[in-house]
Amino acid sequence: MTKTTPPVQKNQTVEVTFEDITHEGDGVGKINGYPLFVPYGLPGEKAVVKVIKVKKNFGFGRLVDVIQPSKHRVDPPCNVYYKCGGCQLQHMDYEMQLDRKRTQVENALKKFGHIEGIPIHPTIGMEEPWRYRNKVQIPVGMKHGELITGFYRKKSHDIIDDMERCIITDERNDHMIDAIREIANRLGIPAYDEKQHRGVLRHIMVRSGQVTKQMMVVLVTKPNKVHGLDKLVKEIAENYPDVKSIVHNVNSERTNVILGKKTNVLWGEEYIYDEIGGIRFAISAKSFFQVNPVQTKKLYDKALEYANLTGNETVIDAYCGIGTISLFLAQQAKKVYGVEIVPEAIADAKANARLNHIDNAEFFVGQAEKVMPWWQAQGLKPDVIVVDPPRKGCDEALLKAMLDMKPERIVYVSCNPSTLARDLRILEDGGYQTKEVQPVDMFPQTTHVECVALMSRIDE
Ligand code: SAH
Repeated sequence: MTKTTPPVQKNQTVEVTFEDITHEGDGVGKINGYPLFVPYGLPGEKAVVKVIKVKKNFGFGRLVDVIQPSKHRVDPPCNVYYKCGGCQLQHMDYEMQLDRKRTQVENALKKFGHIEGIPIHPTIGMEEPWRYRNKVQIPVGMKHGELITGFYRKKSHDIIDDMERCIITDERNDHMIDAIREIANRLGIPAYDEKQHRGVLRHIMVRSGQVTKQMMVVLVTKPNKVHGLDKLVKEIAENYPDVKSIVHNVNSERTNVILGKKTNVLWGEEYIYDEIGGIRFAISAKSFFQVNPVQTKKLYDKALEYANLTGNETVIDAYCGIGTISLFLAQQAKKVYGVEIVPEAIADAKANARLNHIDNAEFFVGQAEKVMPWWQAQGLKPDVIVVDPPRKGCDEALLKAMLDMKPERIVYVSCNPSTLARDLRILEDGGYQTKEVQPVDMFPQTTHVECVALMSRIDE
């Protein structure tokens, strides 16, 4: 093997033109064929870069100056964008974000699925790609004896102390965080100190219903008993009529996990409610609920369109979570079977079905890859199977179970184009054809890519 030396050295300043961009949103520039990954670099841009890390086959750089900006470069509107890291694409205009997400799906399908020549539609974006998140969980710290709230600085656990707003979060949640911080500060409730594993208030979580406007506040503390907590609760309840639920969560562990095991309703209801597409959902402190309901509706409408239901179909919704997709489908199917591994999610799914008087959806706790073969043995013959797996994609046993069940159509909702492509390949090899794919932007300003694919069985 020939030994090659990287053409750059650490701390060297170089001029590069970015040719491409990675999944993480880093610009890729090449020096004599040696790739340099540079956060915030956009394709087509010429820039001055300081080399900060040199590996054998690639290196990393820091953007020092953009000499020729891309026409898609914009000033990030968030005052802490470059520190925070919660968003990765605020320096890129929205048109390019949407276009890039579509291209990413296209490339992944080609590379990992050898799938080409099918329609991959333009990404469905948001009219207003800001203030979309209905939930915020913010760390609490101390500075000069006062409480501060802010996200962690990128790759650290230091709270950004000059964070004014999170402009992808519902504005009401932002204001609620400010209000709670001020009240708690006045009452002398101290923040939790992660390094010392001492102190009280760890996180404040606020969720709000986009349609109902109901709000929930969750106060996460290290100790079980908190001096002044009753006064804090009273002030929030008296002054903020949208708040319907105030919950105490105790997390005494040394951990990065935000919520502890124990939750206790301090005031109001255990649940708040919200609606997606006319279906009502009950949301507790620990429930999973889609963070962008506006785009969720668009995604699930597409899934429903692809399912092409007439009212006579039996449908399986695997990885069903709290039954969001299942309940959508149930409105137009004869019967929907949902399966999900987390028991609390299934309890929510059942409660949500009752809440909406939907009686043709049944929910089961278990591993989808085990429950589906069992259903098949019981004689269940689905016309359509919908899957919405986590990032790692579908279990192979589940893909096999789907192929054995021979549904007419498979609708695959995916948050990771690479595993989607891998799984579509297996399903194609088993007798299905990918018809079309629709990317939907669920998380504007971030690199997350979500899409839904339609497959049909090829009749032998
Ligand atoms: N469609 C759901 C969310 C799906 S997220 C909604 O919109 O609410 C993926 C879900 O798959 C998670 O709820 C996760 O708990 C579940 N899951 C992960 N592995 C699983 C498995 N092997 N079998 C069944 N469900 C699983």
